[in-house]
Amino acid sequence: MDKTILDKINRFTRRKLSEDEVYVFSVILCDNDIDRDCERFSDSALETLKERFIGKTGIFDHNISTVNQNARIFDTELVTDLSRKTEYGENYRYLKAMAYMVRTDDNKNLIAEIDGGIKKEVSISCSAAKRICSVCGSDKNMASCNHIKGRKYGGKRCHTILEDITDAYEWSFVAVPAQVNAGVTKKYSEADTVKAQAVADISAADDELRRDIRKLAYFTGGRAAADIASLSASKLSTQELIEMRRSLEKQCSNSGTGLQLEYSEAQDGQTEFFSMKQEV
Ligand SMILES: [Zn+2]
Repeated sequence: MDKTILDKINRFTRRKLSEDEVYVFSVILCDNDIDRDCERFSDSALETLKERFIGKTGIFDHNISTVNQNARIFDTELVTDLSRKTEYGENYRYLKAMAYMVRTDDNKNLIAEIDGGIKKEVSISCSAAKRICSVCGSDKNMASCNHIKGRKYGGKRCHTILEDITDAYEWSFVAVPAQVNAGVTKKYSEADTVKAQAVADISAADDELRRDIRKLAYFTGGRAAADIASLSASKLSTQELIEMRRSLEKQCSNSGTGLQLEYSEAQDGQTEFFSMKQEV
């Protein structure tokens, strides 16, 4: 484990924890796309949430016996995925959090579950002081306008932009079956309280990016290039991984159009097979 990670964790602990004592994982807390309630967080709201969620404790509420199974966020990162656009045409951004748990006998099974890549659903609660109408820009907390959420105006779906985050209360973790990919759901518990839920795929996104990078690097320079790319990718943040993949994609698309890579890796992780086929 990177020493800076342990240093960040130890800012929140009563005594210094060692690497063996902690379990570190990542979750996606929320993003900037329009959710099924026709609402989204503004960029500045995401920036505020990024600050506010550091140090916040999350709970695992799928089981009553998991009282001791809590985790704390020790770092957050706003990730821009330039390969994906939001419904309203901006770059897709999401708030990623790094969390830790102190390893105990009680949470052994839970850690094994997370390690096993079982998808988790995260819900967050926060307050937004402003709810901006996407059509006319009026603050719905101050005065209502005539625009209806979900209805199209000039071809664009009317939605509410959540802004001016005044507080972030909690995040919680619920186990969901892997095949349920519900996306973002959100509920109000009070007039000014927002509960957002996002599917958090534990570290799987980073792993997938690393696989893509290895694959693309292999295409540009063979096994040696793939090995070098894997080595550098192992130390990169999600944002950096996305950028690296994009630059490799660019290199690949310059060297041929419509090429589709086929890649497979043997069980031992040593042998890999690549083949190219021309798309027709
Ligand atoms: Zn309006």
